[in-house]
Amino acid sequence: MIGKGGVPLGHVALVHEDAERAESIARVLRGVGHRVTVVIPGRRVLQHVLDCGPDLLMVSLSVTDPSVLTVARGVRQALGPDLPVLVLYKYDVSDAPAETDEIVREPADAAELELRVGRLLKAQSEKRILQRKSQELLGLYKMSWAFSLAGGEDALFGHIARQVAEQVQAERGVVLLYDQERRQMVAKSPAYGFSPEHILRLRYFVDGEARSRWNFRKNGPLLSNKAKADTRLLSEFVSDLGVQSLMVAPMTRGPEFLGLLLVADRANRAPFTEEDLNLLLAMAAQATVAVENMTLHSELKRANTQLQEFDRLKSEFVGIVAHDFRKPLMAIRGFAELVLEEPDLPLETRQEFMRTVINETEHLALLANDTLLITQIETGQFAFNWSEIDLGPFILDAVPLGLSDHSVLMDVPAGFPKIMADAVRLRQVITNLTMNAVKYSPAGGSITVRCRERGTDHILVEVVDHGLGIPPDQVGKLFQKFERVRTTEHLAISGTGLGLYICRLIAEGHGGQIWVESELGKGSTFGLSLPRDASKLARLAREGTTPPPPALVAPAENPAATSSAPTPEKTDGTDPA
Ligand code: ADP
Repeated sequence: MIGKGGVPLGHVALVHEDAERAESIARVLRGVGHRVTVVIPGRRVLQHVLDCGPDLLMVSLSVTDPSVLTVARGVRQALGPDLPVLVLYKYDVSDAPAETDEIVREPADAAELELRVGRLLKAQSEKRILQRKSQELLGLYKMSWAFSLAGGEDALFGHIARQVAEQVQAERGVVLLYDQERRQMVAKSPAYGFSPEHILRLRYFVDGEARSRWNFRKNGPLLSNKAKADTRLLSEFVSDLGVQSLMVAPMTRGPEFLGLLLVADRANRAPFTEEDLNLLLAMAAQATVAVENMTLHSELKRANTQLQEFDRLKSEFVGIVAHDFRKPLMAIRGFAELVLEEPDLPLETRQEFMRTVINETEHLALLANDTLLITQIETGQFAFNWSEIDLGPFILDAVPLGLSDHSVLMDVPAGFPKIMADAVRLRQVITNLTMNAVKYSPAGGSITVRCRERGTDHILVEVVDHGLGIPPDQVGKLFQKFERVRTTEHLAISGTGLGLYICRLIAEGHGGQIWVESELGKGSTFGLSLPRDASKLARLAREGTTPPPPALVAPAENPAATSSAPTPEKTDGTDPA
């Protein structure tokens, strides 16, 4: 507090053996605004002085029991060597202890008393400010080291939270980062004084709040010593936090907003002050640099890993191009040369050779399309094109007809609900599954394509054949790139091993799943589960609020069958079996 003429006001402990004199001195000082506690000497004089926690000790030299020296030393020992001591004397000043900062003769002139006390308190307050500043600087210096030495993302948030909280003697501290994609403020773990489970719950949407309310984002720094009753705060967030008092400093770089530094609850329940907030702001600037460095570092690491992955995919494709593209290319070249070099070839043979050239060219084009599509989906460059689909006519169109050795039965209940999906890609999946059913049933037989509803939100498409089937030990791999069943019969049928992998990418791109149940020599059932509205699901996934996928259907008809969910890395723990 500051009094008249810029003089700081303080608490004076006045030890005097003459109660009347003491009161008249106290009146003078109180008149200017100081607080004065008069202590009459006796056995517990030291304790009384300490109890009032003075900013200045004023003691009369005529105090003898205990001596002025004992009182002055005792008080300084307890409250710090800088506590100013003013001695009042009547007759002889020579007994004044070395600890004395000022001496005033009694009866003191009121103006002189005011002046001396004011001067001492001013010096004292300046000294305290300097001390605090150097403490803060030391703290900031130590903190910047701690931040820069912190290893990794996880350690950094914990370091910042603890260091910052300790600097302002708060019991809790946490860093909240702004997630631009989700438009959410998200508390980062580890924090200080909050459990990891608690931190997981601490998040809130930043948009859509009343402007009058503090949104922890746009309104700059904040100090609230009664957080629960503070109408500027987001009450739900404060109750999630479960704190009494808090301070928040934004972490910004220019116009860019990174997040917030939040500390809460003073260790001794004392209120936070403006000075604490200023210190927090200084620390927030340091924390911003540390968080930014860490973010850049993680981004760099992520980009590097992604590059390595792209590089691996590229090499893989180059390998495939060399292998799978060479066979048809050699055939095209061989037959073309024959036609060119043998002018006497009978017309029929020539036509047959040219048909082979055309077929191999088509095969190459398909292979090129498949590899391109895979690269686009894997690298996130593929955008699905959602439209409404009436599955009955759609499946009729997607399934190959006019097969001589196979009969195809379509089973789509009347009034089957329309779904939202990517028509071109869904057609690709259904065509691929039925073509496989035909291909891998070389002896012919019936193939069934059926659709069923699953709950209110999903549909199921199944393609059933009675062909070669799949050995149990290979069923789990088929939805991976280039995987083919390794039996003589299967390998005799030409294929690339990319079709089912593409089906899986498309199914997952729709928020769905694909799997197979099969028995060697008896046949296979490929199942495809899709949400009724994949566009909605894709949108939710972008916003990070994807509902959990439904449990897969159990293989109902053939319990002995071997089945496989497509993704070995599947995390929801469900399995079609
Ligand atoms: P492709 O037929 O071009 O090799 P796919 O990725 O569509 O590629 O299939 C991968 C492998 O799965 C096939 O090579 C085949 O061994 C096996 N497969 C697919 N569908 C069936 C089926 N209906 N019956 C038996 N095996 C199948």
